[in-house]
Amino acid sequence: MKRFSILIAALCLCLTGCGKQTTEATAQIFAMDTVMEVAAYGPKAEKAVQETEGQIKALENQLSRTKADSDVSRVNHNGTTPTTGLTYGTRALLPAALEYRDATNGAFDITIAPVMDAWGFTGDQFRVPEQSELNELLKHVNSDEIQVQEEPSYSVTLGEGQAIDLGGIAKGYTSDLVEQTFRANGIESGKISLGGNVFVLGGKPDGSDWRVGIKDPRNESGLAAILPLRDAYAITSGGYERYFEENGKTYHHIIDPTTGYPADSGLLSVTVVADANGPDQEWDQPGNGTMCDAFSTALFVMGEKQALDFWRNGGYDFDLVLVTEDGRVVITAGLADRFEEVKDSGYTYETVS
Ligand code: ADP
Ligand code: MG
Repeated sequence: MKRFSILIAALCLCLTGCGKQTTEATAQIFAMDTVMEVAAYGPKAEKAVQETEGQIKALENQLSRTKADSDVSRVNHNGTTPTTGLTYGTRALLPAALEYRDATNGAFDITIAPVMDAWGFTGDQFRVPEQSELNELLKHVNSDEIQVQEEPSYSVTLGEGQAIDLGGIAKGYTSDLVEQTFRANGIESGKISLGGNVFVLGGKPDGSDWRVGIKDPRNESGLAAILPLRDAYAITSGGYERYFEENGKTYHHIIDPTTGYPADSGLLSVTVVADANGPDQEWDQPGNGTMCDAFSTALFVMGEKQALDFWRNGGYDFDLVLVTEDGRVVITAGLADRFEEVKDSGYTYETVS
């Protein structure tokens, strides 16, 4: 199946608030099973958007679990580095994935792959596995067993029976590289939304903040909150993004590695917000986009209390918006003076420190 297609690409001239002529380029891209929207403003906007499309396609080819010749598929097939070696994305992401596994005490773990397969989330053959089947598979979920060696040559070796799934961080990493692409093209105002993963560079062309909507998990067309942001990542994980129903029960795609079941922690969504990486980031290195993506998945698994404890620990610099099953939107202190409530959303809003 062709997973990548460019639906719309537009280029136009527009006038900014200060009267300067700015070029705008926008595109809608379907990749990584996600509708992505990119917009860039500046003299090299068109080039930036074209390079962004190329970048996304390249990363999908490296990181996909469904493409047989991706790096990830080859590693899973061989249990080790393929003879063709690994491409920059996979090489850079693996150490980050292991770091975030340790940081979250295993709530984020890329060796969840066989469990994802058992539920049918890798393809679309959904089923509810037996607990005994899950218990067998869970024996292999532990990315501490993965060996990554960077010198003298890069190699990775999986533990017995293991496979990896980078779906929990691939889009965040992609947004990190989009920041690089924007900056390399002198873009001062830009936005990319990869499903629930948003990166904004600068403010809007008129100088105001970008307004990033946090989807209402209970209402497909509604918002639960709005975040005015500039130079920031805002990355959301929610059970409503991908799921199936069987016998009146809903099963979603974020798995608790301790049970093998879809996480059931009382949260409907977790949004992790952090600063842009800035101009000094090395071009292929994971940054805050990757971090936000890993933590959005992990904190969804942890639930409200553990997630807030993790935030309070202060090991990493980010803020949170949690949407809870009992109808609250919980916002951490760094966003307290900027988030906007959505009238009639039915949620109550609380800030925590
Ligand atoms: P989305 O893909 O909707 O943006 P996430 O970032 O939360 O959402 O990623 C969900 C994906 O992460 C799943 O489809 C699967 O590939 C992977 N995944 C699921 N559970 C875990 C987990 N506990 N640790 C690491 N990756 C996971
Ligand atoms: Mg994630």
